[in-house]
Amino acid sequence: MSNEPDLKPYYDAIIVGARCAGAATAMLLAKAGLRVLAVDRQAYGSDTLSTHALMRPAVMQLARWNLLASLIEAGAPVIETTTFHYGEQQVPVAIRPEPGLPGLIAPRRTELDRVLVDAARGAGATILHDTLVSDLSFDARGRVRGVVLADAAGHRRTIGAGHVVGADGLGSRVARLVDAPVLAQGLAQVAHVFGYAPMPARLSGYHWYFAKHVSGGLIPTNDGLACIVVSIPACRFDATFRADLIGSRRQALELLAPGLGDYATTYEVGRLKAFKGAPGQLRQAYGPGWLLVGDAGFFRDPLTSHGISDALRDAEGAATAIISGHAGALRQFQDERDSLALPLLAATDAIAAFDWSLEELPLRHKRFSEAMKAEVEVLKGRSGRDLFDQLGGRRLVSRHVEEFCHAS
Ligand SMILES: Cc1cc2nc3c(=O)[nH]c(=O)nc-3n(C[C@H](O)[C@H](O)[C@H](O)COP(=O)(O)OP(=O)(O)OC[C@H]3O[C@@H](n4cnc5c(N)ncnc54)[C@H](O)[C@@H]3O)c2cc1C
Repeated sequence: MSNEPDLKPYYDAIIVGARCAGAATAMLLAKAGLRVLAVDRQAYGSDTLSTHALMRPAVMQLARWNLLASLIEAGAPVIETTTFHYGEQQVPVAIRPEPGLPGLIAPRRTELDRVLVDAARGAGATILHDTLVSDLSFDARGRVRGVVLADAAGHRRTIGAGHVVGADGLGSRVARLVDAPVLAQGLAQVAHVFGYAPMPARLSGYHWYFAKHVSGGLIPTNDGLACIVVSIPACRFDATFRADLIGSRRQALELLAPGLGDYATTYEVGRLKAFKGAPGQLRQAYGPGWLLVGDAGFFRDPLTSHGISDALRDAEGAATAIISGHAGALRQFQDERDSLALPLLAATDAIAAFDWSLEELPLRHKRFSEAMKAEVEVLKGRSGRDLFDQLGGRRLVSRHVEEFCHAS
């Protein structure tokens, strides 16, 4: 196969997808001494369809993994305030700094995903880009035993694995192949249209704008740019936006923040991108030989900018379950994920429904913030755990996982 490093016939874990969920999972498993392969059909350092506002849970994880400083050094500005604009009313909120966490950041995905991939490689994981996982291999009992790789030339190769982790996004092939049950479905479906312009000199921090049936955001990111996004109910996207993305976004931004639409259009850097929306979905997180992390396991509308936080949190939950290897660990991973994900899904859907008045919306934001606070508490609890030491270091962990895989 092209671009193929020296692949082994068997890995403790193979991760399908090597962006925020997959690369983070690979890094954590490799740090614990497991033999890890992560495969992504896209190129190293490539962009993806996503804005990049990180919320506190994501930044906490990155700080704990010692990756926050390099993202800031690479040019992601530190965000110290969030301002909510409810029509003409402005509600500024200061981001509380903590030791090692000066504020929030919104790195371009070309940076965030690359830093995570580099960290996974640094920890000893093998990462293979430009390669598709075309199928899974199963044993006679239906347990997943590996993946089938296919390169651009159509060469196929089967590699065995103790665990296959689907970190392959919303349209997850792994989820489809294992027939992962859907546990909860969201209702709202919102379209997002975004582009980049130089960060306006008079603004700083995140800005979130709201008006009837439309919202917007201004997200300071790398290279002195702001990502400027407009979000509308998906039905409105089909009816009006799709035919004229530039004009429709300009008009919507003008309504939300007079002057912003003209500014964003005049100083546009690059082309606009559009996501037509998809309803939220929570899938079963694990089964015989497989796990799901990131959007593959839990997708909620991007309106609350929480997908990357979910992805990093669940990457760690899944990695911890695999490493610990005891029978109930996967169940615990799923229970913890669901206890956090279900309130986040409901609170996101309530905002993404666009059926609120501007007076009522702050209450819905408060509900989302409460769901996120519960998540922050769980993450704080994790920082005290020294799982790898408990398991006795590299050699023991790898043997432990092998025994677990072969027994199950
Ligand atoms: C418009 C939009 C705006 C968003 N804005 C934000 C935001 O501001 N903040 C935030 O936190 N979240 C945001 N999100 C959500 C965020 O992008 C996702 O939650 C996050 O990308 C999930 O990461 P992931 O690693 O699970 O999946 P992905 O980032 O989707 O990565 C999956 C990877 O798997 C690879 N892959 C898929 N199938 C295969 C296969 N068969 N073989 C090999 N590789 C495969 C893909 O190539 C891809 O690289 C936004 C999403 C959208 C759509």
